[in-house]
Amino acid sequence: MASLCRRSVLQLCRRSFSTTALRNKDDTMPDPMDLATGLEKKELLAYQAGNDDPFYMKAQKRGVGTKEQPNLVPSFEDSRIIGCVCEEDSTSVVWMWLHEGTPRRCDCGHWFKLVRKPPL
Ligand SMILES: [Zn+2]
Repeated sequence: MASLCRRSVLQLCRRSFSTTALRNKDDTMPDPMDLATGLEKKELLAYQAGNDDPFYMKAQKRGVGTKEQPNLVPSFEDSRIIGCVCEEDSTSVVWMWLHEGTPRRCDCGHWFKLVRKPPL
């Protein structure tokens, strides 16, 4: 019994640990640009260059939207899912696939056309 208790105490001592906070000289966080790599770095560089929508993800206002002057939808791929809020006060979005070379008409009458853009 005594050896069992001593053994438990030793195990507790072995399992203990301590932590310390890592700090750099200035006590500030590192610059995200120094840590970012790959696509994230390209995104940060685009933001620095003044492009606040490098992936064309922001909602766009519809234009005229006729068959001759469709709403242009940028895309990196040859197809993209788009959503149309058909009426200004509508609470639902009409989703549809848009393919390159095939302009598409929404149920509300607006036309959309996919335009290829180069990826970052
Ligand atoms: Zn619509």
